[in-house]
Amino acid sequence: MEKPAILGGTPVRNEFLPVLRPNISREEVESVSETILTGWLTTGPKVQDFQEEISKYVGARYAVSTHSCTAALHLALLAFDVRDGDEVITTPYTFVSTSNVILYQRAKPVFVDIDPKTCNIDPEKIEEKISSKTKAIIPVHFAGQPCDMDRIMEIAEDHNLYVIEDAAHALGSKYKGKMIGSIGDVTCFSFYATKNITTGEGGMLTTELEEIAEKARRLCLHGMDKDAWKRYSSVGNWFYDITCLGFKYNMTDIQAAMGLVQLRKLEKFIRKKEKLARLYNKKLKAVPGIKTPFVKKDVRHSWHLYTIRVNEKEFGLSRNELIKALKAENIGTSVHFIPVHLFSYYRKTFGYKEGDFPVSERVFREILTLPLYASMTKEDVFDVVEAIHKIADYYGK
Ligand SMILES: *Cc1c(COP(=O)(O)O)cnc(C)c1O
Repeated sequence: MEKPAILGGTPVRNEFLPVLRPNISREEVESVSETILTGWLTTGPKVQDFQEEISKYVGARYAVSTHSCTAALHLALLAFDVRDGDEVITTPYTFVSTSNVILYQRAKPVFVDIDPKTCNIDPEKIEEKISSKTKAIIPVHFAGQPCDMDRIMEIAEDHNLYVIEDAAHALGSKYKGKMIGSIGDVTCFSFYATKNITTGEGGMLTTELEEIAEKARRLCLHGMDKDAWKRYSSVGNWFYDITCLGFKYNMTDIQAAMGLVQLRKLEKFIRKKEKLARLYNKKLKAVPGIKTPFVKKDVRHSWHLYTIRVNEKEFGLSRNELIKALKAENIGTSVHFIPVHLFSYYRKTFGYKEGDFPVSERVFREILTLPLYASMTKEDVFDVVEAIHKIADYYGK
């Protein structure tokens, strides 16, 4: 039996394989360089084009760009006038920005536990958390697999709530044939370095509601009634008014120049990741104690993350020990997510404790994100699989 690298054996790889990586080539560099040389650096024509392309791609009437998904989520809450004393339903199984933005508005995040298979909000547990103060629901499409949107939209309608989708993982995902971005009242995307496409940092909000798009656009730039393009370009005019208290959340043309190129490659990225995910599924199926990701029939998964579950008893090692063993084999992994209610700030502020959201906590102990991105090769997947098999053979019963 081969010795795992963590015990002094030879690592499966010589070179470290990161868990996530942006996929950038010359085209992005050229597009960004051209934009910089035009002298138009902040929000301008490239941002306009990028917004149009995203709105066409997801099939939403309006798209408003921001410097992050966090900013887009915050703008959505502002546009719907979520404020002091309001409650917003979301899941603890997310990145912290989903619930932080609720706190920016001095509203209260009300957590609903997840479905253990998809890690998405459990729709059957939403209604018991709705009160007279509830204003909105923020479902999170974990890993790129859409939530049960029919059920969520139905609940929202029955209780007169807004639906703001955290689609940071889900650009390119589909629910029953519909693109994510065209379903909820507002959908927020992320172009952070590791997401489905990237602009370094960046975000976008899409909606069918003209009034909300208009509000978001204004709030995105100090509450100004005109953006820089309408002030400094040849078609512009110097005068502007501040009509409300806004923020400085705008995207730059440099970011958009990169995003335009990335968006053209998105379908190719997803197809490649689909293929690699299928390969992982096939090769890991037989490993005792490892469960490959569950994918619903009526969705298109965009594979932002490939996550497995590790059953310590059957596998022979805990998830945390497997992380260390894989690292020794030169394979990077990560854990998505640490449930938000377990962070010290949230415990201190809201009195949360272990046991409050048992499904999220159980999934958190077992889940592991394996390397997956469009520039990975089949051989990289084979390396990860080989390392897992090697560790399983050594420690397993
Ligand atoms: C990455 C992420 C965000 C935040 O995106 P930024 O663009 O970095 O602000 C929000 N929600 C989830 C689920 C994320 O993974």
